[in-house]
Amino acid sequence: MSTELDDLYQDVILDHGRKPRNFRVIADADRQAEGLNPLCGDHFKLYVKLDGDLIQDIAFEGSGCAISKASASLMTSAVKGKTVAEAEQLFARFHTLVTEGPGKVPASELGKLAALSGVCEFPTRVKCASLVWHTLNNALHTQQKVVSTE
Ligand code: ZN
Repeated sequence: MSTELDDLYQDVILDHGRKPRNFRVIADADRQAEGLNPLCGDHFKLYVKLDGDLIQDIAFEGSGCAISKASASLMTSAVKGKTVAEAEQLFARFHTLVTEGPGKVPASELGKLAALSGVCEFPTRVKCASLVWHTLNNALHTQQKVVSTE
């Protein structure tokens, strides 16, 4: 990967880490789940408002490192307005990206989520980046309220 691309990705992560999108509570959320990454101290609550199969609104609150916060900001931005099935597809692509590397998924299928491709070289950071996605999965599919990376 070129240095220029690294810089671009770095900017996206810094921007979303400092000014996270969808950083609020949804009082009348249909689903909510809590995500915890004890290794790093990342701890978020995720709120989802569904309209049938559509993710009408999604937001999060909590605290964590720049990677986890940027990932939560990028994830919520990416799945808002999508169907549950589309969000799952995106999670699968994102998971491949951060565990197997950017060469395995076309960047065009990821949009800004590709900014987190660099974490694949750092297993502990993969947990930071994936936490909010696992939390989303929980919010959508299980009754379990808290998801932990450990
Ligand atoms: Zn973290």
